[in-house]
Amino acid sequence: MAVALKMSGTYTPTLKEDPSEAEVISHRLLLRAGMIRKVAAGIYTFLPLAWRSIRKIEQIVREEMEAIGSQELMLPIVQPAELWHESGRWDLYGPELARLQDRSGRDFCLGPTHEEIITDLVRDEVRSYRDLPLSLFQINMKFRDEARPRFGLLRGREFIMKDAYSFHASQESLQEHYEAQARAYGNICDRLGLAWRPVEADSGQIGGKVTTEFMALAESGEAALVYCDCGWAANEEAAGTVVPRTPGVTEPRPLEKVHTPEIRTIAELAEFLGIPGHDTVKTMAGKTAEGRLVYFCVPGDRELNPIKADWAVPGVELLDEEDFKTLGIPKGSLGPVAPPAGTLVVADASLKDEVAWGVGANENDYHLLGAMPGRDFEVELWADLVLAQPGDGCPECGGVLKGARGIEVSQVFQLGTRYSESMGATFTAEDGTEQPFLMGCYGVGITRSLAAVIEQYNDENGIAWPVSVAPLEVAVVPLSVGDDVVYPVAEQIWRELAAAGVEVILDDRDERAGVKFNDADLIGWPYQVVVGKKGVAAGIVEVKTRATGERAEVPIADAVAMVAEMVLAAKA
Ligand code: ATP
Ligand code: MG
Repeated sequence: MAVALKMSGTYTPTLKEDPSEAEVISHRLLLRAGMIRKVAAGIYTFLPLAWRSIRKIEQIVREEMEAIGSQELMLPIVQPAELWHESGRWDLYGPELARLQDRSGRDFCLGPTHEEIITDLVRDEVRSYRDLPLSLFQINMKFRDEARPRFGLLRGREFIMKDAYSFHASQESLQEHYEAQARAYGNICDRLGLAWRPVEADSGQIGGKVTTEFMALAESGEAALVYCDCGWAANEEAAGTVVPRTPGVTEPRPLEKVHTPEIRTIAELAEFLGIPGHDTVKTMAGKTAEGRLVYFCVPGDRELNPIKADWAVPGVELLDEEDFKTLGIPKGSLGPVAPPAGTLVVADASLKDEVAWGVGANENDYHLLGAMPGRDFEVELWADLVLAQPGDGCPECGGVLKGARGIEVSQVFQLGTRYSESMGATFTAEDGTEQPFLMGCYGVGITRSLAAVIEQYNDENGIAWPVSVAPLEVAVVPLSVGDDVVYPVAEQIWRELAAAGVEVILDDRDERAGVKFNDADLIGWPYQVVVGKKGVAAGIVEVKTRATGERAEVPIADAVAMVAEMVLAAKA
């Protein structure tokens, strides 16, 4: 017996009008279909139908976690500051970390993630390599005081995440579990019906090195991806790239200082000098943690990727307005020739074959033409520095990169000893020595996944759920509730469907047919059994498939078996 609900008893306040605050489809449809309501920026109540879908997503995730030997537990949301001091993240995590005090003035935070808590749990009790590997997960609320909560459930402040953490005695063991998690994440995406791609990513705030993001493909996605037909794909912010480039200047030239007043952009400069934009070189300044000045030179028509700047010079930060003032260097005319003493000059690898460059003269309103590395200045480090873009070469095979947009629904990380070392979490290894645990962490955005599914499954009438995450699988829609022939037929189909194991809702509201059809399509029930007066008189009902819009007239006697079969086939 599966669940059987009636619309009259279901709290589903659908809206006729598009809510004005919703910028993306999933946000708009979740509001319109009566599934979520906003409480504050990035904080939502999940209404009964959304909650049904969320529980289905959680169940899929739970099954995939248990299939790879991860055990479910529940960690607290409120976390003591001491643990975050131990890991060093109390200071590293910015305003996104919501901090609070208890009545006696002790500091706490709302968990944006749970590495500290889990490391603390395990360090006290797991003592021997014999107890490893260990993999634990929870499905819990997270709070991140995001700078720009937006797009409904795609970027909330309070959201549901499945987070798993694993502990290992060896890199091989970590690698093995990491791969099992990545496979499970692929299965999860498939079972949610998502069109998705795994991409190389930057490990960012959380630390560690090896990481993959799982992207649901969608135009509304905040992430830009580049991918190649060879299978390689990466988040644009972490994408290695080969900049296709024919050197503009192949012969040595004299160094020439040119007066370039009123020139603000690379395009203006290129036009003024009569050379293509990509033959100019622009220079951005940063400073290392020790305060050493760093000049990054990139082709004039490309953007420096700050993440790659950090890979080239770990810990480097780009200068802000204040820094430029204090240092007294001309932001708009920087160049590698005669920079302030001690400056580290780093250049994009694509400039290697460029014999002479057009660069800033380190003097307002002046540029240098014919600046030659090796003669007029030294490049201390060549590195891949630019933001990848479609049309670039694939770093794996040299093929041409294409672009797409995606929603990061999940991510797997190898943390290594980032937390076990800082928090003193060790075990006794086989050789008797004390070793820090090797750790991994693995997150799935549950509520973000819900929104990602809607981004991919919708049309002008509303949501068109894949059966695996639909709030219920079938709606039975009697067109005249007051009719003593129509309604009993509908009710019987509803009851029998539930008995056949199908989740079903009966639209028993005394509403016009148009209202019921619109709501059914807006909410997006995968299958709709429409029971009308004429049909019943002729012994038939209509079965509509929401995704395709197909309608079939089916003898009343066959309807239950047929719909149950359709649902089963869609779930297989
Ligand atoms: P983003 O880069 O989008 O801010 P993240 O990389 O910081 O996300 P993780 O720390 O990797 O996020 O968290 C694991 C998962 O939690 C993400 O893949 C995503 O699905 C989900 N998630 C993260 N932040 C949010 C948010 N603000 N709202 C909803 N889901 C989120
Ligand atoms: Mg992430």
